[in-house]
Amino acid sequence: MKNADLENTLQSRIEEAQQTGDKFGLFFLDLDMFKEVNDTLGHSWGDELLQAVSQRLHECLDSKGLITRFGGDEFVVVSDTLNDTGAGELAGKLTDCFQDAFELSGENVRITLSVGISLYPKDGDNAGDLLKNADLAMYDAKAKGRNRYEFFSQSLASQLQEQRTLAAQLHESLNNNEFELVYQPQFDLTSGRIAACEALLRWRPTREVFSVSPGVFIPVAERTDLILHIGRWVMEQACRQVKAWRELGIKIRVDINVSGRELVEPGYFAGLDDCRARYGLEPQDIGIELTENILIKAGSEALEELKKQREKGVEISVDDFGVGYSSLSYLKHFPVSHLKIDRTFLKDAPESAYDGALMEAIVNVGHKLDLFIVAEGVETEEQSRYCQDLKVEYAQGFLYAKPMPARELEKLLMSTN
Ligand code: C2E
Ligand code: MG
Ligand code: MG
Repeated sequence: MKNADLENTLQSRIEEAQQTGDKFGLFFLDLDMFKEVNDTLGHSWGDELLQAVSQRLHECLDSKGLITRFGGDEFVVVSDTLNDTGAGELAGKLTDCFQDAFELSGENVRITLSVGISLYPKDGDNAGDLLKNADLAMYDAKAKGRNRYEFFSQSLASQLQEQRTLAAQLHESLNNNEFELVYQPQFDLTSGRIAACEALLRWRPTREVFSVSPGVFIPVAERTDLILHIGRWVMEQACRQVKAWRELGIKIRVDINVSGRELVEPGYFAGLDDCRARYGLEPQDIGIELTENILIKAGSEALEELKKQREKGVEISVDDFGVGYSSLSYLKHFPVSHLKIDRTFLKDAPESAYDGALMEAIVNVGHKLDLFIVAEGVETEEQSRYCQDLKVEYAQGFLYAKPMPARELEKLLMSTN
């Protein structure tokens, strides 16, 4: 059935429901990672899989609604009469029926489903709105980790609208030079000297009074290719700064934050090698920080690339350790040199016996694996002493220094190191 046909069918369903006062649901279904499966298996298998998917959906729905193939790997289900809870049940049934693998020419293939739901009449009284809103809810299901269903809501719509506005502003700002890097030093807890610094991105849109926190705009940029452009700008800027400092006789490593999207981008590390080379820098001059969640999701190719960087002498830190999986057993598989313990841990560690015990365990295992430990977010003398007692090597936090513009760090380095 073509999309125009679907809209017509939907429109008649709406008219019918108007007469009877019925409620029904529109389910927007999208296969997760279908492109990857298609690329690995080859296209004829992809077609076979789509047929098998369609058949399974029909069996699962058991004639309690209408199924339409909407596009490449998208399907739309228009349910029979439903209430709100019934819609959730049906969506759950649809995602559940993908738990079993598909057998294609003797090979088992697993694929999951993300589902977005809009309800008639609550979420729209015409075909176009119902489809658009179910589609938005489907994107929300993808963003929340796939293999699940989400309902449309007005707050979701306004949230997405805000994100679109922010993304457009970010794009403009890249061209208008509205970004800046600030640097936060990491202190060697034994000597008290500055050992390295972390480059942190700041965005001050000229037409706004306040700067927007990276905690807000980085996730938005990560949903699109924008993060690749921003990441490239950060890399270039960090290399330029290290070179400028070197010309002033200051030698310091700058660590940059690398997002998951960048890590899997083909040619990312070749780009880093090239950037360093253009500024005459060594691998030791630019470190990289990756969160544990990114490392856990990284495929073997990305880990192989990271290993090559590590072998060249690039310092690689696991960022925010302790907030994600916190899997100590995984650590030995990652080609990393530093473990940055998240500040939420340190916040309560000196007093809370439980956090203290965890912190000690992390530091001990980290040391056993020959990793340097960096404590993040040290704010009090007590926390600093606590880290020293645990033989943590480095600390970063407001107690020592806030992130600051390059010129300020320059002065600090000249006066202390
Ligand atoms: P992060 O990499 O974990 O950076 C440390 C954050 O902790 C920074 O927040 C820093 O200002 C803050 N911080 C440092 N010391 C203290 C302290 O003592 N107390 C408290 N409460 N906070 C402290 P910021 O600059 O807002 O950055 C937030 C996050 O945004 C970063 O977390 C990082 O994940 C991301 N980010 C920042 N710059 C970049 C970038 O260039 N690229 C990417 N991909 N992500 C970035
Ligand atoms: Mg970081
Ligand atoms: Mg961190």
